Amino acid sequence: MGKALIIGCGGVASVAIHKCVQNSEVFEEICIASRTKSKCDALKEKLDGGKTKITTAQVDADNVDELIALIEEVKPDIVMNLALPYQDLTIMDACLATKTNYLDTANYEPEDTAKFEYKWQWEYKERFEKAGITALLGSGFDPGVTGVFSAYALKHYFDEIETIDILDCNGGDHGYPFATNFNPEINIREVSANGRYWENGEWIETKPMEIKRVYNFDEVGEKDMYLLYHEELESLAKNIPGLKRIRFFMTFGESYLTHLKCLENVGMTSIEPIEFEGKQIIPLQFLKAVLPDPATLGPRTKGKTNIGCIFKGKKDGVEKTYYVYNVCDHEECYREVGSQAVSYTTGVPAMIGAMMMLTGKWNKPGVFNIEEFDPDPFMEALNKWGLPWKEDFSPVMVDSEPVKEKE
Ligand code: NDP
Repeated sequence: MGKALIIGCGGVASVAIHKCVQNSEVFEEICIASRTKSKCDALKEKLDGGKTKITTAQVDADNVDELIALIEEVKPDIVMNLALPYQDLTIMDACLATKTNYLDTANYEPEDTAKFEYKWQWEYKERFEKAGITALLGSGFDPGVTGVFSAYALKHYFDEIETIDILDCNGGDHGYPFATNFNPEINIREVSANGRYWENGEWIETKPMEIKRVYNFDEVGEKDMYLLYHEELESLAKNIPGLKRIRFFMTFGESYLTHLKCLENVGMTSIEPIEFEGKQIIPLQFLKAVLPDPATLGPRTKGKTNIGCIFKGKKDGVEKTYYVYNVCDHEECYREVGSQAVSYTTGVPAMIGAMMMLTGKWNKPGVFNIEEFDPDPFMEALNKWGLPWKEDFSPVMVDSEPVKEKE
């Protein structure tokens, strides 16, 4: 049915590529292109022999001309950007120049400022419309499935959604005192930033990890979770009409937080360049180099993730609540695709998003967040491709008190 050019060959890309190969009816051909071609070749060797034709290429995704040349050579129906958020705009530029559909799993973040927002990518909307191509932003789990869950809740269970709490729980244990489950640089930038949530039409900023709650997660148990800013808050606050409040909570263990605080205190999480032995280095990038590679955590990680959304709102004038979530087992993921659940829960939705576009279910010219498309075929695909979801119609809420009205 189609051909995908996949850029990046790290943790998330590896899962997405395994899933594309399992879904050879849709992904007849894939080209894996990344900075380090040997990783692409190793994955090709592991997966070759099935129905999907696999090729590989070297590309520097910071370089628009190189990307254009590669897209012109491969002629894909879609470019799946599974590299880093820093490459979003260069890849979108190359897609525009070649009139090729685009998908990613994280919004653009300039490398020198730890500030991610959709503004840069939303600015491409008109140009994508004029070129007649689709950009699907944020087709991972969060962002990604959390947006699909929100669109599904609104379509089937609510006339109006008042509050959304997104709960991201990782009950996995890799046995290291400190390691990050995905790219350490991206992960640490995210958790060391101020928290922020949206209430009554405005953003409320908190200090990092200032707001803590305890929640008892299905199949995982009780965990401490902290309010963080997360990118889907921005698009959902815009795309879910009538929303009064949206927050995002992520679980962290005490050991993780103590290590992080210590690293922060000694300056290791800084992105300001420093001079070291005559060379400019960025402390956070150096830290990334000494931490365990997330790709190596797979065989060591036990336990489960539980990620979902709790909604409160009204249907036919009656108040109701609804919780939809997925539980994913680290060891089962490793057995299936050789990666732990954090990469798995992102790589599977990346494949599904691309499948929605290649099968023509989700095609409209412009730049869109995932909740702007019909959630039903995506929800069905989650059950089929390894991320089944569960529903609870009387969930325990994170807070029992209602949202305060603006004075
Ligand atoms: P990794 O660091 O494991 O992989 C990144 C890959 O991109 C590597 O193969 C790397 O190449 C490649 N790459 C980096 N820079 C370039 C470049 N300039 N040109 C070409 N290739 C490049 O990251 P993850 O797989 O963990 O994450 C991938 C994406 O998924 C990130 O954007 C991340 O933010 C996002 N993500 C989204 C989630 C969601 O739920 N929505 C959850 C988790 C992650 P090399 O091997 O040479 O380093």
